[in-house]
Amino acid sequence: MQDKRILIVGAGIAGLSSALMLAKNGNDVMVIDANENWEITGAGLTISGPSFRAIEALGILSDVMAQGHTHPGIKVHDNHGLHLKTLISPCIASQTGAALPGAGGILRSTLHAILLEHLSRLGVQVQMGLKCTSISQDLLRPDGSVQAQVHLTDQRTLSFDAVVLGEGLYSKSRQHLFPKATPPALTGQACWRVVLSRPENVDHRFFYLGGSVKVGLTPVSNEHMYLFLLESIPHNPHRETAELQVILKSLLSEFNGELSSIAQSINAQSHIVYRPLESHFLSDSWSTGCVVLVGDAAHATTPQLASGAGMAMEDGIVLSEEFLKAKDTQEAFHRYFLRRQNRCNMVVQNSLKIGQLELARASAVEQAQLVESSLLELASPY
Ligand SMILES: Cc1cc2nc3c(=O)[nH]c(=O)nc-3n(C[C@H](O)[C@H](O)[C@H](O)COP(=O)(O)OP(=O)(O)OC[C@H]3O[C@@H](n4cnc5c(N)ncnc54)[C@H](O)[C@@H]3O)c2cc1C
Repeated sequence: MQDKRILIVGAGIAGLSSALMLAKNGNDVMVIDANENWEITGAGLTISGPSFRAIEALGILSDVMAQGHTHPGIKVHDNHGLHLKTLISPCIASQTGAALPGAGGILRSTLHAILLEHLSRLGVQVQMGLKCTSISQDLLRPDGSVQAQVHLTDQRTLSFDAVVLGEGLYSKSRQHLFPKATPPALTGQACWRVVLSRPENVDHRFFYLGGSVKVGLTPVSNEHMYLFLLESIPHNPHRETAELQVILKSLLSEFNGELSSIAQSINAQSHIVYRPLESHFLSDSWSTGCVVLVGDAAHATTPQLASGAGMAMEDGIVLSEEFLKAKDTQEAFHRYFLRRQNRCNMVVQNSLKIGQLELARASAVEQAQLVESSLLELASPY
């Protein structure tokens, strides 16, 4: 199918990747996002080898490599800052023969800007501050075709051949269209993230293991890195923004060496993102009629495998491939679901298992084994 009129709801990584690939394949794409302005929270993103393959398929590899950071793998340290070993992340075979990096990082705002720039070259702009208030479909048309009538918050009612919902973890449309879907569940952990200046020696991803919390650094550009810290929060305490800096510094105080001087650089101006972790997986079909879910709206993972954004990008690629091949939207969406369900479920479930191992203070070896076997599985074609 080509020349279809498609609405993308949500301009996160899933929505923008879907928009880019569907527009490239000759469809007329409109993108809306509820936010009035771009407020890309969540600091930086770690990019795994499989995510680089998706980035290549999206056609944005050279921009990501120029504006992000690539590195060979992870330098593992103990909580005194002693370097224990370096794990080299295997490179995934590229689809075009280009050499893909094994690991990397990028600021979320930079990745968004790259995706938006590539979309605008195709003539697609994101319309901000717009939501759909309802989606109605006539599923019983005599010729079997389905169209969606979408009512928007600016009072327009528009018709589309397909609607792609990339509304993220708290998707309201998922609640309406898939009432049996289980809501996201808290996992008992929280993730702290903050973007900081990158010391020159932080030239790999760094892990600091053996403390009561797990800490890491990911370079995201020549100048910057982000620090992440995973904390056990069985009772999900309420935390005011004003106190985040003090709590983060106190959590980092058990670490010596480089991490202690990095902790000192955190101050009241630091933009700290604190987020209790939640996850969910929609195990039944991800579509109804000509409406389909992509990204966190269908499968939201915790960050242990650093692959949620990669899965969101792959969703857009696979959806557009199946859209091009299929005779109608239902067939395309069904084939997309068949190709995505096991892979995305593995990421969600194995990330949860690694989180449970972290909570149980299981050995680094046990945790690393599950990370390695999961990334090996993700290395297979999507
Ligand atoms: C703590 C943490 C760390 C992570 N780290 C990594 C990492 O290092 N690497 C990695 O690959 N993945 C990581 N992930 C996962 C990754 O962030 C997500 O999987 C990814 O961002 C999901 O993208 P999305 O487009 O599906 O959703 P979102 O990014 O949530 O985007 C949804 C968009 O939809 C819009 N929207 C919502 N409702 C509506 C509506 N009704 N109408 C219009 N617009 C709407 C929102 O404004 C938003 O712009 C992490 C996740 C967490 C929680």
